[in-house]
Amino acid sequence: MTMHSPLTNRDQGVSLSRDIWAQFADQAERFQTTMRDRKVLPAADPNQLRARIARTYDFQSPIDAGSLLDDVGDLLANGLVHVTHPRYFGLFNPSVRPISVLGDALTALYNPQLAVWSHAPAACELDRRALAVMKGLIGWEESEGLSSFTTGGAESNLCAVLSALSRAFPEWDEKGLAELRLRPVMYLSADGHHSFVKAARMAGLGTHSVREVPVDSTRRIDLEQLERLMAKDRAEGYHPFLLVGTAGATGTGVIDPLVELREIADRHQLWFHADAAWGGSALMSTTLRVHLRGIERADSVSWDAHKWLSVPMGAGMFFSRHAEATHRAFSINATYMPVAQDAIPQDPFATTPQWSRRGIGLKVFMALAELGLPGYARLIDHQASMGDLLRVRLLEDGWEIVNQTPLPVVCFNRPGVDSAAVIGRLLNRLYEDGQVWISSLALGPDAHVLRACVTSYHTTEEDVAFLVSALNTASTRL
Ligand SMILES: *Cc1c(COP(=O)(O)O)cnc(C)c1O
Repeated sequence: MTMHSPLTNRDQGVSLSRDIWAQFADQAERFQTTMRDRKVLPAADPNQLRARIARTYDFQSPIDAGSLLDDVGDLLANGLVHVTHPRYFGLFNPSVRPISVLGDALTALYNPQLAVWSHAPAACELDRRALAVMKGLIGWEESEGLSSFTTGGAESNLCAVLSALSRAFPEWDEKGLAELRLRPVMYLSADGHHSFVKAARMAGLGTHSVREVPVDSTRRIDLEQLERLMAKDRAEGYHPFLLVGTAGATGTGVIDPLVELREIADRHQLWFHADAAWGGSALMSTTLRVHLRGIERADSVSWDAHKWLSVPMGAGMFFSRHAEATHRAFSINATYMPVAQDAIPQDPFATTPQWSRRGIGLKVFMALAELGLPGYARLIDHQASMGDLLRVRLLEDGWEIVNQTPLPVVCFNRPGVDSAAVIGRLLNRLYEDGQVWISSLALGPDAHVLRACVTSYHTTEEDVAFLVSALNTASTRL
């Protein structure tokens, strides 16, 4: 028998009093209201940080909750790139709606297990309701296909690869790739996302199965080269099975021609996946959604809520038109799992890569409910218009815009500020100052650009002006 000493009150967790929750509420309010006065970029010294953490936390004696909350809060407030800052013009990491933070907290509190519907009927149905609304925005019927929340675009893209494999090779799920006569290959733009490389490896297809199609002068996937590459592959004994259209490239925000890609996919009997991890949220906007025309005819769609719908990570969404193919990729019988009853929707553990499943969708549901769709449209339109303003201001000050997109990603350079070395120096100046954060990108061996993305609904005209002025100052001082 295990020796055991009785649990103390503290072990039971009763010490988390109202005061501690109030302390958390104070911290949350302080963090949000002082955001503008903070630097975007911390001056974190890795050795100091590591030493401080090791010194405070030996995990031998317990620390009271209040001190712990203060100390960890302090570490986070001063040791992160603040992606929720209005002057973070960075990667696709948004400001978060406070209500979605509460949604995530509710998930942690109730800890619903969504692996099977019968364990978390309410949480599963809240997820379902949010996904149904998104399906409607894509242009699908509510009952169409199969959809799920994922940890992010990488998992959604993996789901697309596996669903497409399962549809093209109906025996793949049992026999694996070794039994296939022809080697499966997939196609995406050279500016597409590299999660497909990982997905190809995880699926056992290998990196060579990912064909990166060159982009045309507008940096959209080159349709002629795509057809040529596919014909060559077929002649050499490969089996094209998946075509990806990137709807908002990570580097440039450029949207591939989805309607034309759908036609090509039809002609060659390929699964057509729209990777709209970031750009999907443009569907919320009545003015921007036309740019995603064709997405409604995709076989599957990746769309991240944690990118442009202003909720905390990780919240991706995967939509498949072909329930049976996606189901075949993941279905499983496990006698230790609670048995599904008739008339109950498919259990998530048998239709997705995850087993235990967190209530990912709750934060999305709550943000949707609190804002309403028109509210979301305003947030997206506001950020798009700040992107337009940024383009205008940069042009006025002699910068050149090198990407064409209606979405708020702006790639730019100017003569003299167009090499990796000079751009690196300019970024270092900005980072040392810490007041704004932007990134850089190589669009080719000799095409180096700066990249600024509006990704916070808090970003104002003043923030845009601040960025342009910081860029001008930094570039004249080089
Ligand atoms: C960000 C991104 C992904 C990966 O999504 P995560 O949520 O980071 O896993 C996939 N595709 C595109 C186009 C992206 O921008």
